[in-house]
Amino acid sequence: MSVHFDRIAIIGMGLIGSSIARAVRENGLASHVVAIDAAAEVTARVRALGIADSATTQAAKGVKKADLVILCVPVGAYGKVARMIGPQLKAGAIISDVGSVKAAVVKAVQPHLSAEAAFVPAHPVAGTEHSGPDAGFATLFSGRWCILTPPPDAPAEAVAKVGAFWEAIGSKVEIMTPEHHDLVLAVTSHVPHLIAYNIVGTADDLETVTKGEVIKFSAGGFRDFTRIAASDPTMWRDVFLHNREAVLEVLGRFQEDLFSLQRAIRWGEGDKLFDLFTRTRAIRRGIIQMGQETAEPDFGRVKKT
Ligand code: NAP
Repeated sequence: MSVHFDRIAIIGMGLIGSSIARAVRENGLASHVVAIDAAAEVTARVRALGIADSATTQAAKGVKKADLVILCVPVGAYGKVARMIGPQLKAGAIISDVGSVKAAVVKAVQPHLSAEAAFVPAHPVAGTEHSGPDAGFATLFSGRWCILTPPPDAPAEAVAKVGAFWEAIGSKVEIMTPEHHDLVLAVTSHVPHLIAYNIVGTADDLETVTKGEVIKFSAGGFRDFTRIAASDPTMWRDVFLHNREAVLEVLGRFQEDLFSLQRAIRWGEGDKLFDLFTRTRAIRRGIIQMGQETAEPDFGRVKKT
């Protein structure tokens, strides 16, 4: 299905919003892209980068006449933004988003939309630890999954159009319920981020090891955690506050498993450790085989000169 919109409005021009703007332009998916951000410095930067056709700090004004509106602000700001734009939306407009949490997003946005607006929530499972309009790039979504969580009454044509939009910018699309999305992402993304924030915080708090030593002797494992723990604080605070139930469920299981490992170490149960580490190694191989990661040292992130 080929896809083209007359006017796309993107609200929140950070990493994800600015990457979408760049990808839309590169793939010729809209006649006009309106960039909207609450911060005047961000809209000024968007103009300087030339990644949208117009830019404004006024969301209510910016969404008028848009056929597709994509919310790319932190999840905690969704309710406020939806309240502002709801009454201004063109009849038949499609409203979508990129939030890392889905059930809370539906609850926050849906009440502000008229019956004429088609709401198709989406989550591109792609990102980096960087933020802001300079951090974005057009190929961020290439080969990555984008999960759609449309309400049961969402018009099929709008769902197909949003799916085709993500495919046009390189993503693979899957559909699931918001609740299932939140549980899957709690396991694959949210709890791993919490573990990274925690381990880096613990290392930073260790009084017998100086900060200088933590940086100087940081081994590969710790360095990988610090990359994740450098992710945007506002975005991740909002993820945990808005996916509370699923995160707490997964954390409960994680803690049980951690205690079991602690016990195995205490009692010298080497076979138990070896069996788990063998199982987890196979999972990494599976991820590489599915093209979701590279087998290169340092995940291919260190550029060879
Ligand atoms: P980001 O780089 O921090 O960008 C967010 C932008 O939204 C900032 O420019 C921010 O301005 C602006 N903003 C905040 N509140 C606003 C409001 N009320 N009205 C208009 N603009 C507002 O964050 P991001 O990484 O792009 O994340 C955006 C969304 O994408 C989040 O919902 C997140 O869950 C989702 N997501 C992120 C990733 C990732 O890896 N980063 C991956 C998938 C999905 P200020 O900086 O001035 O506050």
